[in-house]
Amino acid sequence: MSETIVIIGAGHAGGQAATTLRQKGFEGRIIMIGDEPYVPYERPPLSKALLAGDIEVERTYLKKPNWYEDKDVELRTNTRATSVDPAAKSVTLDDGAVLSYDKLLLATGTRVRTLDLPGADLDNIFYLRAIDDTFAIKDRLTPSSRLVIVGGGYIGLEVAAVAVKMGCTVTVVEGLDRVMSRVVCPEVSAFYNDVHTQAGVDIKTGMGVSAFEGNGKVEKVVCADGNAFDADIVVIGVGVVPNVELAEECGLVVDNGIVVDEFAATSDPSIWAAGDCTNHPNSLLGRRLRLESVQNAVDQAKTAVGSMLGEPKEYAEVPWFWSDQYDLKLQIVGLSEPGDEVVVRGDPADRKFSIIYLRDGVFTAINTINNVKDFMASKKIIAAGRKIDPALLADAETPLKEL
Ligand code: ADP
Repeated sequence: MSETIVIIGAGHAGGQAATTLRQKGFEGRIIMIGDEPYVPYERPPLSKALLAGDIEVERTYLKKPNWYEDKDVELRTNTRATSVDPAAKSVTLDDGAVLSYDKLLLATGTRVRTLDLPGADLDNIFYLRAIDDTFAIKDRLTPSSRLVIVGGGYIGLEVAAVAVKMGCTVTVVEGLDRVMSRVVCPEVSAFYNDVHTQAGVDIKTGMGVSAFEGNGKVEKVVCADGNAFDADIVVIGVGVVPNVELAEECGLVVDNGIVVDEFAATSDPSIWAAGDCTNHPNSLLGRRLRLESVQNAVDQAKTAVGSMLGEPKEYAEVPWFWSDQYDLKLQIVGLSEPGDEVVVRGDPADRKFSIIYLRDGVFTAINTINNVKDFMASKKIIAAGRKIDPALLADAETPLKEL
């Protein structure tokens, strides 16, 4: 009898899993549950090209809508899974339907971290995670808008770059003392701070937002130190939290994400998990982690599918990420940590350079700015865990691939 695989979550990991299942010749039933009205799509363009109006929404789709019908993948959009019964091997949906599964993949992703502050429910305060969020923000933004962005991370700075180009007056309020501190070293933060400032964005660091004020609509963003910024629109980008409630309720081990092994297996032998929602081990990095990235969604979904089909293959990839702001492509390979030795390669003034991070002499991570060659060469070097002389790395004339 043919098997049924249910995928909860129709994001990048869920969409990749369905694709890989059919590519690998799985002929059973695939049912994918997603609470958004769209087919699985890529999120990175949401705060960049889609917000800027440079692309149509269809360009974000992983597969054309007819792919699901053609490949006999039952995609249920606008639908939430409300519970999982691991003993009965069934999933209950918010429309009352109960689906039986042989194997279940949790690809539930993350949701935005919200700010529970006075005035947070005023109109024109937005978060950005889904296509409809991008459309809602885009609808309100005009060249005369005063936009205040809370959080100077990826989302905040990408939105700032798009909005200032549209002619908006943009202020970014960041709680810590520098932007993007979660992912880059102080040198890269300073570079992006300067780039945004030159573009006309007012960046305020070291200011925690304490309230929003307004009459129906937001008018002011107030900080704990008494500073306040006038706003017609607010976009909040203060990180995400993993969607683990379903996993928790059905008794799976959860610890900052759904705990899986290197094969994407959970503590239940019929349930796997992949993507932003997992806490997984990585033997290359020598530790467990939870990642929010396209690379992780794609690679771990492939691992999960391999495991479900009885072809287990360890998931151990070097993480990588990117962010587009203005004419700058920031690409990150590996995970840097405070205390890493930092080597600057090239001149930031050229808007093309790299920052290499060494831990005990080992090349562990890199940030490349408009430097695709360094980005490409680094993946192998980092996977190999090589020690390289910092003086050689600092010489931008010598290609990394020769080292
Ligand atoms: P995202 O993907 O949402 O951009 P990041 O973790 O990359 O998430 O960035 C979120 C940023 O928001 C961090 O730089 C963090 O310091 C900042 N932040 C978090 N809480 C607040 C707050 N209450 N006020 C201002 N900035 C905040």
